[in-house]
Amino acid sequence: MSESLRYFSTRGRAPAATLSEAVAAGLAPDGGLYVPERLPTAAPADFDPRGSLADTAATLLAPFFAGDRLADELPAICAEALDFPVPLRALPHRDAQVLELFHGPTAAFKDVGARFLAACLRRLPRADERPLTILVATSGDTGAAVGAAFHRQPHVRVVILYPDGLVSPRQAHQLGCFGDNVRALRVAGRFDDCQRMVKAALNDAGLQHTVPLSSANSISLGRLLPQMSYYAHTALGWWREHGAPLDFIVPTGNLGNALACLWVRAMGLPVGEVRLACNANATVPEFFAGRDYAPREAVATLANAMDVGAPSNFERLRWTFGGDDAVLRQALHAQSVDDATIRHTIAMHADTHGEVFCPHTATAVHLLDRLRERGDTRPWAVVATAHPAKFDQVVEPLVGRPLPVPSALAAMLQRSASAAPMPASDDALKHRLQDPACA
Ligand SMILES: *Cc1c(COP(=O)(O)O)cnc(C)c1O
Repeated sequence: MSESLRYFSTRGRAPAATLSEAVAAGLAPDGGLYVPERLPTAAPADFDPRGSLADTAATLLAPFFAGDRLADELPAICAEALDFPVPLRALPHRDAQVLELFHGPTAAFKDVGARFLAACLRRLPRADERPLTILVATSGDTGAAVGAAFHRQPHVRVVILYPDGLVSPRQAHQLGCFGDNVRALRVAGRFDDCQRMVKAALNDAGLQHTVPLSSANSISLGRLLPQMSYYAHTALGWWREHGAPLDFIVPTGNLGNALACLWVRAMGLPVGEVRLACNANATVPEFFAGRDYAPREAVATLANAMDVGAPSNFERLRWTFGGDDAVLRQALHAQSVDDATIRHTIAMHADTHGEVFCPHTATAVHLLDRLRERGDTRPWAVVATAHPAKFDQVVEPLVGRPLPVPSALAAMLQRSASAAPMPASDDALKHRLQDPACA
C-alpha cells in the first residue's frame, strides 16, 4: 500500500490531519481549507476500461485514502454514493457534449458530494455520544442534496441555511420538505451571509464544546474529492475512444466543481482546457482579467446557485497553482454571463434546437456558443449542473412549454415544506443551535 497522505490547511496554521479527520472537521481549525500535502498522480492505464463510475472513483481516490481508517471502505463508499448515471450526451448542433450531472435524488450535481460525504461520516466512529449537527449554507442546491443524504440517519441533525427569497420556489420546497432530523432556516440575507454564519459557528470553540458541529459545504474535502470522479471517468472514456483529452466548460460559483476538474488534470489525467462560466457575480472573471482578487457581496441572478461574491474554494485554487497568481491566470479562463444572455441562451437553444438547459448550465452553453462563433472546433464538454425543472419559473416561460419533472423531484414536491425565519446574524444562529427547543 502506498504511504498515507497528510492534509494541511491552506492557511498553514493548523496541525496536519488524516483524511478522516479532515473530512469529519470540514473547515480546518485555523479557518483555512484542507488540502493534501501533494496531489497524487495517475495515468489512464491505472483504470479498468470496463469499470463503472464508482470503480473509477475507487481507483482515483485510493491514494487520497491510503493508510486512512476509511481506506478499506472506499470501494463501498463509492458504490453507495455514486449509484446514479452521469451520461455524456452529444450536443450535435454544436458538435459538442453535455456532461449531465443532475440524475441524482435532488436533480443537481451536489448529490455526488453530499452522498459521498454522508457515506464517509456514517462510517467514522465518534467519541461523542451527542448527535452531530451538520451545518450547511446553501445558495439553492447543496442544502437539499445534504438533507436527502442524511435524512433519518441516526445521531445526525442537519441545519440548512438559505437566503430567503433568493432560491427558486421548487428549491425552497425541497429544502423545507424533509422534517425529522433535517431543518431549514430561511435567512434574511444573501448566500454569503449564510456562509459567514456557518463559518462563525464552526470557528467558535465554546459553541463546538456544547454542540458538536461539522459542515457540509463545498469547503469539505468529502465533497470535493468525489466530484473528481465524474471528470476522470468521462475524460478517460473520451481518451480511450478518441486518443485526445476532453475540454470542459464548468458553471462556477464557489469553485468546488471546477476545482475537482482541475485536480483531475493536475493528477495527470486527460483533461484538456478548462473554462469557467460565471454569472453576473464577476469576482473570479475579474481576477482572471488581471485585477487583484476582490471578494464582495453577491448579487442575485437567474443562476442563483452561483450567486457567490466570495468563492470559498479560491484559497484551494491558489494552492493548486503554488500560490502564484501569474501561473493560475495562465492555466484557466473565466467569463461572466449576465441574466439577459442566460435568458437568450435558454430560449434560443430550446427554440432552434429543442435543447433545454437550466440557468446555470446556460452560462456554460453561452461560452460554447461564443467559442463556436469564433471558429473554435475543439471537443468541448459543457457541464450541466442541474435539471431545468428545478427552475421552472425561469425556464418554462422562455421555452414556452411545461418541463417534465424527474420523479425524485416530483416526490419531494408532493410533501409539505416549512422553514424557520432567521436574521443574518452570527449570534442568532449560535443561539438557535444551543436552544433545546429547536433540536
Ligand atoms: C452549486 C451549483 C453550481 C456552482 O458550483 P460550485 O461548486 O459552487 O462552483 C452551479 N450550478 C448548480 C446548479 C449548482 O447547484
